Amino acid sequence: MTEPQHIAETAASTARIVFIGAGPGQADLITVRGARVLAQAKVVLFDALADPELRDLAPSADWIDVGKRGFSGKEGSDFNGQTRINRLLVEHAQAVGRQHGPDAIVARLKGGDPSIFGRLEEELHALREAGIASEVVPGVTSALAAAASTQRPLTRRGTGRSVSFTTAMTRTGDLQCGMGPGQRADTEVFYMAGRQLAPLSKGLLDAGWPGETTVSVVSRAGWPDVRHSLHTVASLDDASVVHAGRPTLVIVGAGATEIPDEPLTHVAICGETGRFEPKQHP
Ligand code: SAH
Repeated sequence: MTEPQHIAETAASTARIVFIGAGPGQADLITVRGARVLAQAKVVLFDALADPELRDLAPSADWIDVGKRGFSGKEGSDFNGQTRINRLLVEHAQAVGRQHGPDAIVARLKGGDPSIFGRLEEELHALREAGIASEVVPGVTSALAAAASTQRPLTRRGTGRSVSFTTAMTRTGDLQCGMGPGQRADTEVFYMAGRQLAPLSKGLLDAGWPGETTVSVVSRAGWPDVRHSLHTVASLDDASVVHAGRPTLVIVGAGATEIPDEPLTHVAICGETGRFEPKQHP
């Protein structure tokens, strides 16, 4: 445990860590604010998914690759080197602060949005423990890039009122147990599902999705070589060969379907479906 006094001293002399969402693909999918903050950074700790062209936004910064791929750790061990990354964040905040003062910035660049399956919780926790100030700049998460590149909106009037973001993986690399019972949302988006399509198909059937439900599978969304294929819940495993070795999202339900040929003229409201009655006023 760190002494409280030590925390105060550290905070005064350390740089600030700014988590920046790099966006899902090409460098220009970063936000304007993300690009501005990146340009001020002295050191950038980045992940494997980030576009190398992002380096042009901070050419004089020290770029350090802390990317990790796949799930290698055993229960109780240092999963994916996350502990190492936490330690590097603290060390660089201290080193940059010593050299450039507390207003200097160390950027932690993460693919997509840092708050979606980005281990942000652990990194924020490590910084709080060390008394290091931090900030988070959001980014475009890959589910939104997948919806954009396939022109399949995740929400639909009347049929798609809710969206869920779920990881298909546990820390040990198995399909997440306890997916059910029942659907989570009208549109369900599964991250980290590429190597789990057969068990995911079974899990969805067990959760009550009809086998013929449309599933849209998108890999490398936001990149020029984006790949898109359509399946059903029952035949989802067919997507494995199409997207092998690429970052892949599985979108199930309303948001997976093609938009209708005709514009919507009427959408049922809750009262019409009998789900709840409008309040009667005397
Ligand atoms: N923070 C990231 C997600 C990190 S988890 C975000 O907001 O997008 C990594 C998973 O995200 C991958 O296994 C894949 O399921 C998904 N992913 C990331 N980039 C992607 C892309 N360009 N296209 C499709 N899926 C992507």
